[in-house]
Amino acid sequence: MPERTRVVKIKLPLANAYVLAGNCTVLVDTGAPGDHARIVAALAREGIAPRDIALILLTHGHGDHAGSARALRALTGAPVALHVADVDMVRRGRNRSLSATRWTARILRPFVDKPFEAFEPDICFEDESSLASFGGHGMPGRVIHTPGHTAGSVSVLVEDVAIAGDVMMGGHLGGEIWPVQPRLHYFAEDRIALRQSIARLIALVPRTWYVGHGGPVTMADVERVFG
Ligand SMILES: [Zn+2]
Ligand SMILES: [Zn+2]
Repeated sequence: MPERTRVVKIKLPLANAYVLAGNCTVLVDTGAPGDHARIVAALAREGIAPRDIALILLTHGHGDHAGSARALRALTGAPVALHVADVDMVRRGRNRSLSATRWTARILRPFVDKPFEAFEPDICFEDESSLASFGGHGMPGRVIHTPGHTAGSVSVLVEDVAIAGDVMMGGHLGGEIWPVQPRLHYFAEDRIALRQSIARLIALVPRTWYVGHGGPVTMADVERVFG
């Protein structure tokens, strides 16, 4: 029987990164610029060496998730995969303009909208796919296109769990307050697409949603807030 995938949350100063450890190990997101050492230290606490990482998957191209991708690719030797619709951001090392969903987001924007080290992703994908097809052999997860926060946002479904990036967030101020309460993210490029992506994920019934800030949130709470 295949080994059950273990999900490890790595809480970084701005965002979360995740490790999916099963028959092979995938890093989902890389934090902001300068977070690579924190991620390597968190991996070490789990008994995972940088070279054990088979794939780095980015949920989207914002600097608080893609900011240490270049450094972590050098440390792990793993290819970096990103949806084609967000590639322009990582090539420039700049976010597209962050459109705020409420006034508090406008106040936060200058603190989170920072440049990062530009890079060329190794795998630019457009179609939904299994993680195994990106070189994560033995990894049962699949990538679902969940646009709205950005055009190239994706989520990973592994067994009964979703790694949903910034499709929503947990709590306020990066999860410092009520981290398990699902909330509309501070920023969204397309709010209609975002609602559709959340509805689509709900229909896929993940029990636990691991999000980019705060969390995890439960399916019951997501349905209560967004259903
Ligand atoms: Zn984002
Ligand atoms: Zn984020």
